[in-house]
Amino acid sequence: MPPPLAKPVNPEPATHEPVAPELISSGSAASHGGLAAAYGATSPDSGLVPLTLVRRAPQADDVEIAIEFCGLCHSDVHAVRGEWGGTTWPLVPGHEIVGTVSAVGSAVTDFAPGDRVGVGCIVDSCRECESCLDGLEQYCENGMTGTYGGVDRRNGDSITQGGYSSSVVVDRRYVLRVPDSLDPAAVAPLLCAGVTTFSPLRHFDVEEGDVVGVVGLGGLGHMAVKLAKAMGAKVVVFTTSESKVPAALELGADEVVLSTDKTAMDAANRSVDLIIDTVAAPHDLNPLFRTLRVDGALFQLGLPSEAMPPVNPRALIRRRIAYAGSLIGGIAETQEMLDFCAEHGVVADIEVVGADQLKDAYDRMVAGDVKYRFVLDTSTLQAPDKEVDA
Ligand code: NAP
Ligand code: ZN
Ligand code: ZN
Repeated sequence: MPPPLAKPVNPEPATHEPVAPELISSGSAASHGGLAAAYGATSPDSGLVPLTLVRRAPQADDVEIAIEFCGLCHSDVHAVRGEWGGTTWPLVPGHEIVGTVSAVGSAVTDFAPGDRVGVGCIVDSCRECESCLDGLEQYCENGMTGTYGGVDRRNGDSITQGGYSSSVVVDRRYVLRVPDSLDPAAVAPLLCAGVTTFSPLRHFDVEEGDVVGVVGLGGLGHMAVKLAKAMGAKVVVFTTSESKVPAALELGADEVVLSTDKTAMDAANRSVDLIIDTVAAPHDLNPLFRTLRVDGALFQLGLPSEAMPPVNPRALIRRRIAYAGSLIGGIAETQEMLDFCAEHGVVADIEVVGADQLKDAYDRMVAGDVKYRFVLDTSTLQAPDKEVDA
């Protein structure tokens, strides 16, 4: 069954037939909870328009969160523009959510109203498979439920809707504690960009003396730089943007290589132990493999919508190089990352935007023109008559 149809509260007159305002039910409970102001897409070319979500009433294990900030991830752009296919419309993106608890269900003892909390990319999973039992909910054998665009496993016929909204209701098992010492707006990007880069750094056991290469200095990339530095590594940034060379050094990188400069790439031959590749578009990995030492590894995190140039097996074989992928991080690991960030004073470098700046923010993100993460201030969602194209 398709999800309940929803239409923009104020449909764009030029591209849509006029429709009566309707509500999106984003919960699957029998009873509806509160209304949430939101921005979402109704088709791949609708842009982001004001919508009203009906969030479910908190059930026994639920935490209701008044959202304050939500980071803008490049995955939101891929999803809103239908670049990955398989999207169910309408879609309210956002999986870098920070807010305060506004209500809890009767069985919730670990969260209370007023607590500062976060929600990342996962709001449910089967909780029974080997991956879930290992704290690897992102690799749930029965499919994790994404914070947006996921089929709600409570009833199987409603679609989860994300954090470009004023509130959300999430099972307590998927809610994170946000350390009080960290700025809540700058914490938001940790919930995806932070844990997505933390997880492979930890998997590779990065420690003092290791050399970590970071490819692409955007939301994920700049978190990889900060986290790898906090783990004691030497960091080399590979960027296509000449303007980011001084910026990368300011962020803490030890070296910066302009990846379009063949001479600079040749000079980086056999200098790196681990590469975290965050590029959001197809690109040739073979020159990057040549910068790795024997037993090096390249973790690809970016998920371009088009095919990548082929990998040359010779480049892998000659130095026993591992070419790997990695998907976000599990719930316990996300909490570990937040606590690590509190201990090391790590947050994202952000630019806070209002709902009326979303289109510009998306365009600038695609152009690589952000240092380094946009964060939506959800208090600006209170004006539902504003129209935003993405
Ligand atoms: P972002 O902020 O837009 O950063 C991507 C960076 O890639 C850019 O700043 C740019 O850095 C580099 N780049 C080089 N050529 C590019 C091109 N032609 N188009 C776009 N970027 C180019 O994106 P993000 O939020 O960090 O996300 C990066 C990718 O990771 C996306 O594909 C996203 O969907 C994916 N992602 C994956 C996971 C996962 O679990 N694996 C989680 C979150 C996001 P330079 O200017 O320095 O070259
Ligand atoms: Zn993300
Ligand atoms: Zn599972």
